[in-house]
Amino acid sequence: GDYHIVLAENRRMFNELQELKGNIRVYCRIRPFLPGHGEKHSTVEYIGEHGELAVVNPSKQGKDRRRNFKFNKVFGPDSTQAEVYSDTQPLIRSVLDGYSVCIFAYGQTGSGKTYTMTGPNGASEEDWGVNYRALNDLFSISQKRRDSLIYEIQVQMVEIYNERVRDLLLSDVHYNTLKYFVSLDFHTLGIVSTVQPNGLAVPDASMHPVTSTSDVLELIDVGLKNRAVGATAMNERSSRSHSVVSIHVRGKDSHSGTALHGNLHLVDLAGSERVDRSEATGDRLREAQHINKSLSALGDVIFALAQKNSHVPYRNSKLTQLLQSSLGGQAKTLMFVQLNPDVSSYSETVSTLKFAERVSGVELGAARSSK
Ligand code: ADP
Repeated sequence: GDYHIVLAENRRMFNELQELKGNIRVYCRIRPFLPGHGEKHSTVEYIGEHGELAVVNPSKQGKDRRRNFKFNKVFGPDSTQAEVYSDTQPLIRSVLDGYSVCIFAYGQTGSGKTYTMTGPNGASEEDWGVNYRALNDLFSISQKRRDSLIYEIQVQMVEIYNERVRDLLLSDVHYNTLKYFVSLDFHTLGIVSTVQPNGLAVPDASMHPVTSTSDVLELIDVGLKNRAVGATAMNERSSRSHSVVSIHVRGKDSHSGTALHGNLHLVDLAGSERVDRSEATGDRLREAQHINKSLSALGDVIFALAQKNSHVPYRNSKLTQLLQSSLGGQAKTLMFVQLNPDVSSYSETVSTLKFAERVSGVELGAARSSK
């Protein structure tokens, strides 16, 4: 009886530790069918308990019909927001221990990136996404430690669109888009890469001290409004830009006075769908090229880190330059790979899974062979 419970608990903790040793984790989440979308046939054939996933193309016959993948975890269409977050919690604790953590959401538009990261519009607590839950934990854990550690927490929020970076939190919402469009100077980034004591990811973006989850939510709200202001002049573009919320934590030991610095970057990536080359022209084509370039640059960086290559190509995109000090080394990366299960998305699903496999599979292999 009890003996087995203890064994199971030990095994769980052991697995969790093992899993935490790998610095790159990939979780796949399949969103449910949406009512009224005419979605009927799922490409998902099998979800295993240990991250196995098989997808099939129902309209295809023969040996290419089925593809198998393996990730750190696969969350099926019935998984709850709480379940999806539960494995992320140890990462949030490590931010307060002085680590850098990046959490990405990757997938085609409509695959549930925003749902996983933020939750549905006007979400009740139960439906809260990873961001809210992470912030709540960040503040509650820092409160619990306050007898020994004093934490200062600050927030930045930027958007990357067409390889230009925009501060989404410049004091007020400005309704003049052109005036508002501030490009940050990236010449300074060379300096940032040599781990700054304060861990600033974007030297020129405004920093906002916060003391509670609601402070952060207010700021994110301002950021989202600013993002929308930019969008009116340039068409709806939230799915075609990356947004990065960066939470900088500074903890000071109240006895010894020593300080630690942690960062948490919450990144909602642009939609990964390929734009039909024959149809896209002008702005749309340019956007598509920038998105392609930055997503593959991100894939290349994570792949190089997983391979433990000596050269990591950070400089190939603004996104990877921006996150350079938080990708690699002791930093931890979690990528939520989102899938639309409908057969109409089959080819996007396979290309999403190939991207995910590239960034995760090698790290798993490397971890295994070193044991
Ligand atoms: P993306 O950010 O990738 O474009 P969204 O998060 O906006 O996609 O999701 C597209 C639609 O699917 C939204 O209406 C969202 O509420 C719904 N959706 C996504 N994931 C889930 C889920 N796990 N459960 C219920 N609805 C979901």
